[in-house]
Order: sequence, then structure tokens, then C-alpha cells
Amino acid sequence: MTDRPRIFSGMQPTGELHIGNYLGALREWVRIAETDQFDAIFSVVDAHATTVEYAPGQMREQTFETALTYMAAGLDPERVTLMVQADVPAHMELTWYLSTVTALGDLYRMTQFKEKSEEHRNNVNAGLFCYPVLMAADILVYKATVVPVGNDQVQHLELAREVARRFNARFGDVFPEPEARLTNTPRIRGLDGKAKMSKSRGNTISLFDEPAVIHKKLKGAFTDELKLRRGDPGRPEVCNVFTIHCAVTEADEVDRIERDCRSGALGCGECKERLGQRLVAELDPIRQRASELRGDRARVIEALRAGGARCQLLAEATMAEVRAAMGMSTRDMG
Ligand code: ATP
Ligand code: MG
Repeated sequence: MTDRPRIFSGMQPTGELHIGNYLGALREWVRIAETDQFDAIFSVVDAHATTVEYAPGQMREQTFETALTYMAAGLDPERVTLMVQADVPAHMELTWYLSTVTALGDLYRMTQFKEKSEEHRNNVNAGLFCYPVLMAADILVYKATVVPVGNDQVQHLELAREVARRFNARFGDVFPEPEARLTNTPRIRGLDGKAKMSKSRGNTISLFDEPAVIHKKLKGAFTDELKLRRGDPGRPEVCNVFTIHCAVTEADEVDRIERDCRSGALGCGECKERLGQRLVAELDPIRQRASELRGDRARVIEALRAGGARCQLLAEATMAEVRAAMGMSTRDMG
């Protein structure tokens, strides 16, 4: 178990998970877990979620729901470690130390910080700014080398690598450099076809949307502005509906859709109808398993507690190395 390379990834409990989270990350986590090639740790990163306005009374339930969604999507706590970030305070401790080897200029360049500070103008807090350092700590505290994420997190991964390099150069070789791992659909756009699909933007198809809701949302989804009616030639490369087809529809059917969209033979209505059917087929079992798990809360909570206990030990071992390398604490005082 311990000699397998380690994978780490997480999601924020900021709302119901959507098909972007699933097709960009979660489905890949499940596939990776099924190979048993990695020692995989998947986290609900609740401390990250405190960087934006939230209702404290709802955070715990949202954290539970996020973990439940992981399990409903197929992550088996017998084969992977599931944990809640705040259960392992070493993430926060390491964040402090890493922040001392992180350049302010690098943090200012982060696209997510720029976007989120626009979205939350009345709450641009230091935590939002330091988000990428906490993310580096999440990964490095377990010495994870592979991080399956969506495209929007690639920049943060590059920063994590830089932070690991700077730490090692200053204090000795403690951390490996983690690498991002992307799916074929690393960026699903929202229903408006422009911005990234995001929990916080209300532009999502949720993993738990009922079939009728999925079809309704797709009807209103933006496709290609130059294709106004059936018969007009379309451009699949600019169309978000086509991107989602690529993730959930068989390859030969995708080829036919691409050809018939370009020729004009296939209208957007029909194309969306087929996508709706594929999505419903993919998501139905997840929704089903989620509702079963809601009747067995203890199973989810036990998995998270056991995972947290394991991570506590792993993280503490790294922190002992970090403190020794940096000359901190009384532990090694003579
Ligand atoms: P928030 O709006 O609160 O930031 P989010 O939808 O961006 O929520 P996160 O919890 O920030 O979700 O990200 C969880 C994971 O899902 C990350 O690996 C991220 O890269 C991936 N992800 C998020 N949105 C998309 C998307 N639209 N397409 C592909 N991957 C995505
Ligand atoms: Mg996000």
C-alpha cells in the first residue's frame, strides 16, 4: 500500500457537485481508484470553502453531501482514503511555512484569485489570496505526486511545484514535485456556453438534477451563435454541448454528430435531446446510490473519520520532517 505513488485531490463543499466537477475530475478519480495503482487520498476541502461568504450552519451538511457524492460516484472507502481537510490541522500548519517560500508576485498572478475577487468584491480576504498555498500544502503534506484536477487548477499546480522547489532549495529535499493530471474534457463551460461551469455561478447541470430538469436546462443551453436553425452548418469546436457529448457519448456516435452538425443535417434541438439521454443514463445510477447513502449516514461519516485518522498520521510524519528541516519546535532541542 505505502510503496504505491500517492494521488491527492479535493473539492470544495460550496454547493452540489456538477457535471464539470464530474467529467473534469471525479469520474477520473473513480477510474484511477479502480486500477489500484495509486495510494489515493480524496478530500472535501472545507477550509478552502471558508475563503468565500458561507453559512456556518450549512457547511457541515454540505461537506457531508460532497463526501456522499464521491461515494455515490463510485469511490469505495475500502480502496481509497476519503477525508475532510479540517480534520487534519497539519494542512493549515504547513500552509504557514510554505507561505514563507511563496512569492507575493506569483499569488497576484493567479487567475482564480482575480476572478473570485471580482465575484466577491466585498470580501476579498487574505485567505482567498493564499488559497493556492493551502492547496500546495494539501498535496505536499502527503507528498502526493499526481493530482487529478480540471484545467482551472493547472496554474495552482504549477505554483505548488514552484513552492516545493523553493522549499527544497532552502531547507533540503523534503517534497516531490506534484503533477496535474487532466481528463479529455478538462473544462466544461456553463449553460451560457462561456464561463466555466462552477458551483458558485448557478450555471450548472447538477449530478443530482432529475431527468426532466437536465433536459430542460439543455434546451436553454448555448451552442454556436452562427447556427441558428437546423440546416445551418455548425462548429462543434466552439460548442459546449459538443464538448459534453465527447465526455459521455460513444466515439462513433460523436463522429456522426460532428459530421452532421457541420453539414447542417443535425439541428441543435436533436443534438441536445441525445445528449440529455446520455447524461441521464450516466447520472441516474449516481443519483440512485446517493439517495441510498442518505439513508446510511453512518457509513459516510465512518469512512471520513477513518480516512482522517490515517491522514493525521501521514501528515504528522511529514510535519516532523518539515519542522526539523526548518529548525522549529523544542522536539530536537538538547
Ligand atoms: P467553486 O465555484 O466553489 O469554485 P467549482 O465548481 O469550481 O466550485 P471546485 O470545488 O473549485 O469546484 O473544484 C473541484 C474540482 O473540479 C477541481 O479539480 C476543478 O478543477 C474541477 N472543475 C471545476 N469546475 C470544472 C469545470 N467546469 N470543468 C472541468 N473541471 C472542473
Ligand atoms: Mg472552483
